[in-house]
Amino acid sequence: MTELRGVGIGLGITHGPIARMAEPLPAPEDVPSALGADAETARVREAIAAVARELEERGATAGGAAQEVLEAQAMMAEDPALEDEVGTRLAAGKTGEFAVFDAFASFRDQLAAMGGYLGERAADLDDVAQRVIARLRGVAAPGVPDPGHPFVLVAKDLAPADTALLDLDKVLALITTEGGPTSHTAILAREKSIVAIVGVTAASGLADGDTVIVDAAAGIVTTEPTADEIAQAERREADRAAAADAPITPGALADGTAVPLLANLGKPADAAKAVELGAEGVGLFRTEFLFLSSSQAPTVEEQTKAYTELLAAFPGKKVVVRALDAGADKPLAFLNDAHEENPALGLRGLRALRASEDILREQLTALANADAATEADLWVMAPMVSTVEETEYFVTIAREYGIKTAGVMVEVPSSALLADKVLAHADFASIGTNDLTQYTLAADRLLGSVSSFQDPWHPAVLQLVKTTGDGGAKHGKPVGICGEAAADPLLAVVLVGLGATTLSMAPTALADVRATLLNHSLDDAKRIAEAALAASDAASARTAAQDAAAHPKEN
Ligand code: PEP
Ligand code: MG
Repeated sequence: MTELRGVGIGLGITHGPIARMAEPLPAPEDVPSALGADAETARVREAIAAVARELEERGATAGGAAQEVLEAQAMMAEDPALEDEVGTRLAAGKTGEFAVFDAFASFRDQLAAMGGYLGERAADLDDVAQRVIARLRGVAAPGVPDPGHPFVLVAKDLAPADTALLDLDKVLALITTEGGPTSHTAILAREKSIVAIVGVTAASGLADGDTVIVDAAAGIVTTEPTADEIAQAERREADRAAAADAPITPGALADGTAVPLLANLGKPADAAKAVELGAEGVGLFRTEFLFLSSSQAPTVEEQTKAYTELLAAFPGKKVVVRALDAGADKPLAFLNDAHEENPALGLRGLRALRASEDILREQLTALANADAATEADLWVMAPMVSTVEETEYFVTIAREYGIKTAGVMVEVPSSALLADKVLAHADFASIGTNDLTQYTLAADRLLGSVSSFQDPWHPAVLQLVKTTGDGGAKHGKPVGICGEAAADPLLAVVLVGLGATTLSMAPTALADVRATLLNHSLDDAKRIAEAALAASDAASARTAAQDAAAHPKEN
C-alpha cells in the first residue's frame, strides 16, 4: 500500500480500477512506406471504417447531444474528399500514418480558416485523425478511455473538450498529475460533484487496472489497498451519501455562529438549482454572461429582464450582483479594444467600466429597475478595485441610482492591504480569491505552467484575507468570499477563522462546506486559521490546517 498525495476537491471518497487517459500521439515521421500503396490503402480503409463504427457505437450508447457530436465525427472520418486527399498521399509513397496525419491536418486548416461553426469542428477532426493513427499503430486512442466498466480516470489534466463527453456513470473519480485547485478539472469536479484529487504528481506511475482508493477529503490516493481499507472507504462513502440526504440547514459553525452559504451564479436560469441545494442567497452573480456573446452591450431593457428574473428567484434574500468584469480572462470587444501586453494588469474590471461609463450607468439603471420590481435584497459590487479612490467612485455612482448596498471586490493586494480604508467607504467587501491569488503570487490564472502558484492556501493570500477581515470587523461591515477557495471545505473553515462572514461558491459545493463548518466552533476555526497562517507555503498551510482540525484543543 502506498499513499500518493495531491489536492482533494470536495469531501468524496471512492475506489475502483484505474483507466489512464492516453497521451496525444507524436506526429508520424515522413518516411517512405515499406508496405507499398495498395497495402497502405487497405490498412487505412480498415482503420477509418473501424473508427467511424466505434464513434457511432459510442454515440448510440451516450445518446442526446453527445450522440450528435459523435455521429458528426464518424461522418467526417468517412468524408470522400478526405479519402481522396489521403489516397493522393498514399499513391505518392507515404505511410498510412503520415498520409492520414497530413491530409487531416490540411483539412483541419481549411476548416479553421472558415471560422464560425465549421471552424469549431477543426478540433473534432484532430480527434478523428488521432484515433485513426492510433488504430494504425495498434495503440490506445488518445482521450477519455472506455474500458467498458466504471473506472478512476487518471490524466495529466483534462481539457474542456475531454470533459464534455465524460460519462458520469462510468467515471468514479478523477486523478490528475498536473493542475491546481482552480484548474479546469477541479472546477468541473466541483460542478459535477465528481470525487477528484488534482496535482498528484506520483500518479504518473499508476497502471491501467490498478485498484486505488481516492480520498478527496484527505487528498490521498491509496494504491494496492487491503480489503479492510476498501471496506472502510465503502463505509465512508455510505456515510457521505447519508449526509448529502440530511436536511439542509442554514450555514453555521458548531457553536451556532451563522455563516450564510451563498451561490456563485452565471445565469438567472441556474437560480432554481441553487435554491434546491440550499443557497441562502447569491454571493456572486457574474453579469458577463449577458455581454460575452454580443458585439455590443445589451440594452437596459434586456438587462432589466435578466436581473429581474434572477432577483425574483430570491425573495427576501441577499443577491450580490457584480458590475461587468471585462478584460483579461473575460475580454469584451467593445470594452477592451486596445492591445495590451499584460491584459490582467490592464484596463479591466472597474477600470474598463470607468473608461466607458455609459455602460456602467446603463447596468446600474437596469439593476435599480430590477430591484424596484422584486423583493430580493440587492447588493452591487465593483470588480478589480485597486484603490480607495476607486471605491469612493463606485459607491458614489451606485448611490446615484439608489443602490442601497454598494461594495467592492477585493482581488488586488492593494485593496486587501488598505481594507480598513476601503471599508470606511464601501458597505461590504467580497474577496475574489482566484484573482487575489493570481496577483499575490504573480501567476497568470490561465497559464498551466504556473498553475502550482495558483493555490489560495498560500499563507500570503491567507494573510491578505485576514487583513481584509480585520478591516471589516473594525467597521462592522461584512466580508464575504466568492472565489473558488470558499468551495474547499477545510479552507472554508480557515477563511471564516480569518474573518470571512459569508461564503459563496458553486452550488454543488454547498453540502460539503455546510457539513464541515458544523464540525468546528469559531474558536476552533480561528485556531486552525492561525496554524495555516503560520506556515511558509501553500502545501504546509494545508497540512497544518488538517492537523489542527484533526486534533481539537483539549480544554
Ligand atoms: C475571483 O477572482 O475570485 C472571482 C470570484 O472572480 P472571477 O473568477 O469571476 O474573476
Ligand atoms: Mg475575479
